[in-house]
Amino acid sequence: MSTIGFIGLGIMGAPMAGHLAAAGYQVAGYDVAPAGLDRLVASGGTKAASIADAVREADVVITMLPNHPQVEAVVLGEDGVLQHAKPGALLIDMSTIRPESSQAIARAGAERGIRVLDAPVSGGEAGAAEAVLSIMVGGEEADFVAAQPIFGNLGKTIVHVGPYGAGQVVKAANQLLVAGIIALNAEALVLLEASGLDGRKGMEVLAGGLAGSTVLNRKIDNFANRDFTPGFRIDLHDKDMSIAESAARSAGVGLPVTGQVAQLVAAAKSSGLGGYDHSGLLALIEGVNGKGQS
Ligand code: NAD
Repeated sequence: MSTIGFIGLGIMGAPMAGHLAAAGYQVAGYDVAPAGLDRLVASGGTKAASIADAVREADVVITMLPNHPQVEAVVLGEDGVLQHAKPGALLIDMSTIRPESSQAIARAGAERGIRVLDAPVSGGEAGAAEAVLSIMVGGEEADFVAAQPIFGNLGKTIVHVGPYGAGQVVKAANQLLVAGIIALNAEALVLLEASGLDGRKGMEVLAGGLAGSTVLNRKIDNFANRDFTPGFRIDLHDKDMSIAESAARSAGVGLPVTGQVAQLVAAAKSSGLGGYDHSGLLALIEGVNGKGQS
């Protein structure tokens, strides 16, 4: 398990692939955009010219792509991973996608002798850079055990949560929590400032009490400085809220607060904020109050 093909070297994939190269794995990276490839080479990896080049010799293939259409095209498509990976290879999809796509990919992999795990992550760009991601893994126990050394170079909390697709369901729960917490932090800040108080001071004391959270610790500067450089784009969070709503339907439950938060994220996207970091929900909430830059 020393040779890795890594496909998708964006905000998350580039630092993750870099950690694996720095740990001594031979990492061949592929992306349709050049920036991440250059970052990987600087960390000791190599550029692959195609998916086939990245995966042909790989013991492990990792994908970190935006959404299910990209993952399906890269894995199942013509000249994709399943066509070129060697039998017995382990495919770890770390993208956030709908659970049914993860399950379909696992079935297609099994037909070609490729083992598959869905292993989405939480922790954001900072978590990827610091290798402290939370990794939620669906698939066979033996494959989870085999992947542990790789996961150990990327994260701190690594849990096998169930069969194929289970990692994605846990990630959907993660995403509804994060969006809801961001939205309420933004509303708290709008209240503090509209009351004539220093927003940052107020948020700092909130961060130390029961209302504190990793979200607030990680995003307090974004909120206070109105710095909405991504990070995690609202466009991607909108995708994740629709996965959460659809997972709730599949599970036969209604999640009323999630529904409201999903509408808020959708409105942020349709207002042209899709390229903002998800802390930019603040701009939407300020906008409906006639304040801020929205
Ligand atoms: P990103 O858009 O920065 O990176 C995705 C990369 O995939 C890009 O470099 C893009 O060029 C590449 N790509 C797209 N289509 C491709 C194709 N067909 N072949 C090869 N490369 C292709 O996104 P990101 O923020 O790194 O997120 C990746 C995944 O991780 C998403 O599913 C996202 O929801 C999830 N995620 C992101 C964060 C975060 O904070 N950014 C946190 C946790 C999970």
